[in-house]
Amino acid sequence: MDNERILRETLRYLGYRRERPDSRVEALLAECRRELDRAVSFRHVKREMPLTLTGEAGICTDLFMTESRSLAKNLKGCDRLLVFAATAGIGADQLIQRYERVQVSKAVVIQAMAAAMIEEYCDSLNREWKEAFRREGRYLRPRFSPGYGDFPLECQKALIGGLEAGKRIGLTLTDSLIMMPSKSVTAVIGISSLPADCFVEGCEACGRTDCEYRRE
Ligand code: SF4
Repeated sequence: MDNERILRETLRYLGYRRERPDSRVEALLAECRRELDRAVSFRHVKREMPLTLTGEAGICTDLFMTESRSLAKNLKGCDRLLVFAATAGIGADQLIQRYERVQVSKAVVIQAMAAAMIEEYCDSLNREWKEAFRREGRYLRPRFSPGYGDFPLECQKALIGGLEAGKRIGLTLTDSLIMMPSKSVTAVIGISSLPADCFVEGCEACGRTDCEYRRE
C-alpha cells in the first residue's frame, strides 16, 4: 500500500488543497492511522468472465445484463471482464461509530482515512492484476463501479450475489443498495488484447484526454 497516497487522499477528502496540516492535525492523523491499522481487515474476491457488447450501450455478462453508454465506451475492444469486490471489514465502521459518540472530529478523520485506505487497497490489487495480465498479453481498463456515469447502481446486487461476497468476504447490500461494511468497493474491469496503457488510478488521473475509452 502506498502510505503517502493514503495520507494525500485523506487530506483531500478532508478539504485540504495545497496547505499542509499543522502539527496537531499531523498527530491526529498518525493516531487515526494506528487505530485503523488495528481495526481493518482487507479482503477481496474476484471472478473473470466473458463479455458481450451490443450496440452503443448493451452489456451482457454471466452476472448481469444492462444498458450503459459510459461503461460500454470504457469496455470497447474488451471481450472478457474481471468483476471484483473488496472490503476493509466491519472494524473500520465500528471505530467510526465509537468516535462519533465521543469525539466527532476524530470520527471525521477516520472516515476519510478509511475511504482512502480501501481505495488504495483496490489500486494495489489492480496494479498487481495489471502486471499479471500484461505478462499474458492482456490489458486491463481502469475499474468502473456501479453508480459511475450511467452504470446502474442496481447492478451491485448481481455483482455481490454472483461473487458470493457475503459468504466469502462478509460484504452484503441493504435494500437501499448501501454496502455493509461501508468501506467497500465493487467494480468491473475490462480485459482487452488491445494495448491501452491505463492508469490504475483511473481516467481522472490519466493525461490521455482524447482516449476513446475514457471514463466520463
Ligand atoms: S483515459 Fe487513460 S486510464 Fe482512461 S481508458 Fe484511456 S488510457 Fe485508460
